[in-house]
Amino acid sequence: MKVYRTQQYIRPDLQAHIHARDMLDNVHKLRSLCPQRTRFCAVVKANAYGHGISEVVNILNRAEVDAFAVATFYEALHIAPLADGKPILILEPVNPAWSAEQIRICAREGFECVPASPDALHYMQDSLADTSFVLRLHLDIETGMGRWGIVPAQAGAMLSMIDDSGHLAAAGVFTHFATADEEDLSYAYEQVERFERFLDRYNLKDRRDLAIHASNSAGTIKLPQAHYDMVRCGIAMYGYYPRRMADAPIQLKPVLRLEAPVAHLHHIPAGHSVSYGRSFVTTRPTRAAVIPLGYADGYRRCFSNCAKMKIGSHVVPVIGRVCMDQVILDVTDVPDVRAGQMVTVLDNDHDSPCSAYALAALADTICYEMLTLIHAHVNRIVH
Ligand SMILES: *Cc1c(COP(=O)(O)O)cnc(C)c1O
Repeated sequence: MKVYRTQQYIRPDLQAHIHARDMLDNVHKLRSLCPQRTRFCAVVKANAYGHGISEVVNILNRAEVDAFAVATFYEALHIAPLADGKPILILEPVNPAWSAEQIRICAREGFECVPASPDALHYMQDSLADTSFVLRLHLDIETGMGRWGIVPAQAGAMLSMIDDSGHLAAAGVFTHFATADEEDLSYAYEQVERFERFLDRYNLKDRRDLAIHASNSAGTIKLPQAHYDMVRCGIAMYGYYPRRMADAPIQLKPVLRLEAPVAHLHHIPAGHSVSYGRSFVTTRPTRAAVIPLGYADGYRRCFSNCAKMKIGSHVVPVIGRVCMDQVILDVTDVPDVRAGQMVTVLDNDHDSPCSAYALAALADTICYEMLTLIHAHVNRIVH
């Protein structure tokens, strides 16, 4: 098995400040919503939602975290040495695109996997036949997400297959909500009902060996009837509600603040255009600051002429098109700007004009996407 160990270079000038205390507090608040016995699975896929997967796993080893979930086999391999022996659940179901060797490595490393289908189960069984390994599995039950889940009619037979196999062990049964973040929870309630019906049909609540789980962050916050044996929290751990909530039962604090330096300052006369396409023309003599960050770093091109950054407590507008590696700010109204001074690009405050919510709104997307776009070469600094 070829494991690619790449040396990702780091840009020390682009700084994502990660506040460990805030992340630990967020975990604690989420846990406080759940019964004592409910385990907490920290979802650290997509480079820990852009926060830096190694840094975040190290922080979470100090928190009340019982397990980690990642999207891919490769992320599991990456964090295995850091995870302090905690179980690592790979959310991407094992499917025919996986090699037999990958399956053996999962079993050897104790990773917990999800089978995509009955065929995947046979494939796992065959891949492990010549080994002494046992692979722990979680069955994803289709209740309305319409993605990977196994329909309940097929899941019973799959459970029996796992139970009868010497190389496979049932570790969990779960489902995933499609709409738990929405105001109207009726579809989420329907999903809970379908899941309950499945659990009852096979008396799975009586099985001590199975962890039953369903809730993502939204479910953890809004669906106490779906906490079961474990919750799987991603976005809330990083300090965000899946969408802005007016009546949130807990106060989450964003963990990350992204900064970049003022690389260059210059004066532009009135009536002069700025950046590609001349989409901005100055209406007054303008002091402009060039920031060495652009859409290649995750700062979306659609922020052209609309996003804001902060210099100290001053809010400054992006002027002209966001370039691949640069963006230009109007700093005329900010006294004492110096080259080298740090600018807040993405703020750790829900009400900031450059919060992940505010930027997501400008890009017509969700805060998840804003965070995961932060390039891996941004220096993650843990405080
Ligand atoms: C990503 C993911 C989660 C976490 O979702 P959040 O909304 O970030 O809490 C939980 N479960 C599954 C299956 C996921 O793919």
